[in-house]
Amino acid sequence: MTFPDPDRMLGCLLGGAIGDALGAPIEGRPIAEIRATYGEAGLAEYSDARVRAGAVTDDTQMTLFTAEALIQASIRERGKGIGGAAPGLLQAAYLRWLRTQGEEIPEQGIETGSRLFAQPEMHQRRGPGRTCQSALHTIAARRRPYVPLGSLEEPINDSKGCGGVMRAAPAGFPFSPRVPAGAAECRRAAFAMGARSAALTHGHPSGYLSAGVLAATVWGLLRGADLADALDAARTELETYEGHEETSASLNAAVALAREGDALTPERLETLGGGWTGEEALAIGVCAALAVRDGEPVDVVRRALRLAVNHSGDSDSTGSICGNLLGARYGTAALPGHWQSGVELRPIIIQVAADAALEFGPNAPTDPETGDVPMNWHARGA
Ligand SMILES: [Mg+2]
Repeated sequence: MTFPDPDRMLGCLLGGAIGDALGAPIEGRPIAEIRATYGEAGLAEYSDARVRAGAVTDDTQMTLFTAEALIQASIRERGKGIGGAAPGLLQAAYLRWLRTQGEEIPEQGIETGSRLFAQPEMHQRRGPGRTCQSALHTIAARRRPYVPLGSLEEPINDSKGCGGVMRAAPAGFPFSPRVPAGAAECRRAAFAMGARSAALTHGHPSGYLSAGVLAATVWGLLRGADLADALDAARTELETYEGHEETSASLNAAVALAREGDALTPERLETLGGGWTGEEALAIGVCAALAVRDGEPVDVVRRALRLAVNHSGDSDSTGSICGNLLGARYGTAALPGHWQSGVELRPIIIQVAADAALEFGPNAPTDPETGDVPMNWHARGA
């Protein structure tokens, strides 16, 4: 019950990348322009309008760094018997990501020990978000990569951009032997981890609580819950946090709007906002995922992702969030094959998902003779 389903974890990462790649060519383009270019129904397939068809953006890059840091945190926790390292490892991972964007920062000593950073394909500048960049530059100036600067208690800024939520889905992956086995406690831990990961760079409650909701919802989906149920449980957890009102109101509006089902137009979707902020991006991704109900899962995913990206706002982030949710809900069999084969970074995504399945599964690596946790099993060769 508590272990995440491996295929759904892969679905979550791959679905997010697919939604990101689908939305990237039309990020911030007015819906009238999208229709003029792609037809009345809007964009339906990958397009090479900006980079190459199937190319992902910073959303997917940062999501992968989130996953890697949480794998590292789990290894440490198992090996040393103490938790609490995750926020520092996440911060160091995001600094590595900043380096992949070609940004110059003071020496941090973070170049080794990361498989992701060692991959040349990860070193591509893909529209890095302004808040992520400026917050990480501030962090980098201190040269203490593993000591978190921003937290819920001590906000690093007042940003509620969607750069926190769009990378938070893997915070719903971990199975932690240190958290009491009850579902409510584990979901609470996933929410808190999602919020903490976002608060490293985004200090406004709507910037980090939206990330908590995504993580807690993914947590439920990976363990077999229906989307509506997983979301309801995450929203209940959300309400226990100070400053939740804006995010709660956005989600209420998203759930209500989703009842319009397939009749939902981009203009109606835009009543939820442009998706540039955390709570709006979450609302649009959630609304699209909930709105499409009937049909084979693969058809549901296709229609929902098209709905999630065809609007005048932050299409790659709303597509990414919707894809995280649907991939976690249905697994890889529901993701259209040509979208899977055509998405950039697919081999790396598969590697990260397999590593997560191993570390967070029932058979995490230990030394057969000593029983010790091999602290370098994940970083070997990096
Ligand atoms: Mg992006």
